[in-house]
Amino acid sequence: MSGAAELVALERISVHFALGGGGLLGGRRRVLRAAQDVSFSIAEGETLALVGESGSGKSTLGNVVAGLQVPTAGRMRFRGKEMDRPTWKAARRAIQIVFQDPFSALDPRMPVSDIIAEPLRIQGSAGRVARQERAAELVQQVGLPRDALNRYPHEFSGGQRQRIAIARALAPAPALIVADEPLSALDVSIQSQILNLMKDLQEQHRLSYLFISHDLAVVNHLVDRVAVLYLGRLVEVAPRADLFATPSHPYTQALLDSVPRIGVRRRHRTIRGEMPSPLNPPPGCVFHPRCPKAQEICRVEPPQLASAPGRTTQLAACHFKD
Ligand code: SF4
Repeated sequence: MSGAAELVALERISVHFALGGGGLLGGRRRVLRAAQDVSFSIAEGETLALVGESGSGKSTLGNVVAGLQVPTAGRMRFRGKEMDRPTWKAARRAIQIVFQDPFSALDPRMPVSDIIAEPLRIQGSAGRVARQERAAELVQQVGLPRDALNRYPHEFSGGQRQRIAIARALAPAPALIVADEPLSALDVSIQSQILNLMKDLQEQHRLSYLFISHDLAVVNHLVDRVAVLYLGRLVEVAPRADLFATPSHPYTQALLDSVPRIGVRRRHRTIRGEMPSPLNPPPGCVFHPRCPKAQEICRVEPPQLASAPGRTTQLAACHFKD
């Protein structure tokens, strides 16, 4: 997406949650560092994947981008403007979110027409007739039958419910959709249909996506760039083709080793052990307890995100990046 204008940028975003302490039982106050010093940007029309294991902080960062989580530190820009209260009002329409579980994300008491039109009603940006017309237009765009408008969520399959959730996200004509694991609750046969729908909608509406996933195999079909998270830190950011062909960070290499790929032999060791608790991250490089390449410096000095040798667009946070 070189040359496309920046749509959203996060600069050194951290999200910390204070746990315990105070109250009748007292106890030690602890800090859960869900995200630490994370910076990335998304261009107009671009799809960026945020990838990592459960607990890596990817949904927390998705919520920051969607305005559902206030960061503890850092700044965010939207179309070049610092996000303050008035900017957020405009951005709220332009940034929508689709959640993992389409069933719990849809109000079971509302007909589909009202569900899809709800963002417009909340924003007060259209009258009832205009809202219903927009809902009718969107059910067709996402491949649902027209009679879906008067039916209720329980009458649909998982894939159809995710189509309803996508139609609702499209209602205010957003520039960016945060898609938080939108496929992981669906059957494999349905996943590719939803992926294709998302691709088609991107072309029709010049949408950008922040596509959150634990599955590198899935992101290979949709995204322009990939950002890999580990324990709330960004460990690698690269164009998709580069990341898949020549992963630079040992964690990315291990993640890719767990993805079966035609014609690619396993080159690296698979990842060992469990991810440490974000309540007690290891010193130095947070990946060092699991890293097959760890040296003494890794235990004391946190590596900075920097370009890999000879690759200006591929950044990795590792003292010994490939
Ligand atoms: Fe492994 Fe050291 Fe690189 Fe961390 S900095 S990923 S421990 S080699």
